[in-house]
Amino acid sequence: MFQLMNTVGVLVFIVCMLMSMVFLAKRKDKFKNIGKAVLTSFALFLVFFMSGCSSKDKVENKTSKDSKAAISDSVKDKSLGTLKVHYIDVGQADSILLQQNGHNMLIDAGNNEDSNLVKKYLQDQGVTNLEFLVGTHPHEDHIGGMDYVINSFKIGKVYMPKVTSTTKTFRDVVNATKNKGLKFTNPNVGDSFKLGDAKCTILSPKSSSYKSLNDYSIVIKVEFGENSFLFTGDAQGTSEMEMVKANLDLKADVLKVGHHGSRTSTVSNFLEKVNPKYAVVSVGKDNDYRHPHQGVMDRLKSKNINVYRTDENGTVIATSDGKTIKFNCKPGSYKGNSTSSKSSSSSTSVNSSTSNSSSTKTSNSSSQNETRTVKQESTNSSNQSSSVSESNQNKVGETVWISATGKKYHSRPDCGRMNPNKARKMNRQDAENAGYQPCKKCY
Ligand SMILES: [Zn+2]
Ligand SMILES: [Zn+2]
Repeated sequence: MFQLMNTVGVLVFIVCMLMSMVFLAKRKDKFKNIGKAVLTSFALFLVFFMSGCSSKDKVENKTSKDSKAAISDSVKDKSLGTLKVHYIDVGQADSILLQQNGHNMLIDAGNNEDSNLVKKYLQDQGVTNLEFLVGTHPHEDHIGGMDYVINSFKIGKVYMPKVTSTTKTFRDVVNATKNKGLKFTNPNVGDSFKLGDAKCTILSPKSSSYKSLNDYSIVIKVEFGENSFLFTGDAQGTSEMEMVKANLDLKADVLKVGHHGSRTSTVSNFLEKVNPKYAVVSVGKDNDYRHPHQGVMDRLKSKNINVYRTDENGTVIATSDGKTIKFNCKPGSYKGNSTSSKSSSSSTSVNSSTSNSSSTKTSNSSSQNETRTVKQESTNSSNQSSSVSESNQNKVGETVWISATGKKYHSRPDCGRMNPNKARKMNRQDAENAGYQPCKKCY
C-alpha cells in the first residue's frame, strides 16, 4: 500500500515539475521569482511527503515483520501446545516453574542458598519474564530465593498470603518487591487467572488466621486442557480439610504433596478428593525432618499413585499436551524417611509404625478441633503473644528437644518421662516444619 503511495507521490512530483517548468517558460520575466518559489516549495513539500511516507513505510514494514514473526512464533508454540511443570530440585524446599506458550509462573524459590540455582535454572529455560511469582507462605524454604528472583527477572504479579513474618528472609522479599515498584497481591479463594492457555484457580487459604504458618500456604489448581495440577505449598491437614469441607473441585492428575511429605499433610479425605494419578514430593535427601513420612508414602502406594521425588529423581519435569502427562524420569520409591533418623534407638522403628496409623487421626482431629485462632501480625503487634510473627520469630532461634519416639517437642530435654540422653535437639521452627506439636506440659 505504501509502495503504491510512493509511486503516486513520484508521479505527482514529476507532473508538478513539468507544469512548473511550462509555467516558468511562459512567464519568464514577470513571474520568475514567484515561479521559483512555488517550484521550490512544491519540491520541498513533495520530498518531505515522500520521505515521511517512506520512513513510515519502513517502520510499518518492520512492525508487520515483527508481528508476523511473533505470530509465527506463537503458532509454533501453539502447535507444541504444552504446559511444562518443573519441580526444581532445591533439596529440602520448594520451587516450581510452570511454562505455557512463553508464559512463565514460579511457585516458591527454594532456600536462601538456592537463589543462584533457581536463577540459573530459570535462565536455562529461557525465562526472562515471570508473569506470576507465588510465595506460598513466608517460610525460608519457600521464599528464601524470592528476593534474588525478583531482582533478576521481569516480574508481573507477586502473590503472597495475608500473613507476615519478622524473619530477615521475609523482610528481604518485602524490600525487593517494594524496590521494584511492585506489591503483594493477596489471594482469595475462587480467584482465577490465566497463564497462557492454562487456568489457575486459588483454592486456599480460606481463613484469615491459622495456628501454623504452613496452613497459610497458597494452594493453586492449574488446569490445562483435560489435565490438571495441584500445588499445595506446605498446606497441612487444617487447610486440606477446609478445602474438602468447602466442596471445592480438588480433582487433579498431579498432586504436589503438601509439606515435603510430612505426616501433617496429605490426610486421607483430601487425598481421596484430589484422587491424583501422580504425586510429586519436593524433598531433600536424608533430611533431618524425616520427610517424606512413611505413612504418607503408604497412603499414596495404596492408591497406586506414581510418586516422583526430587531426592531420588532430581528435578522432575511433567509435560502436558492437554490430554496426557509425561514425566522426564521413572517414578521413585515409596520409601519414607521416617525411620532413617539420626537417632540410633531401636525403639524408633517400632514406634514409627504405630505413629503411622495414628498420624491420619492426629491430622484430622487437629483440623476438626482447630478453634484456637492466631492473630495476624499488624505492623506494631510484636507484643502480641499469640501473633504468628512473634511465635515464628521465637521459633527461628529457639531450641527444642524431641524424644526418640515422641510426636511432641519440648522446651527442656528432661520433660516428663523423656530420656534426656536420647533427646534430639532441634530448632523450634524446624520441629514445627517436621510436624511435631508442642508438648502441653512444658509449653
Ligand atoms: Zn513451611
Ligand atoms: Zn516447606
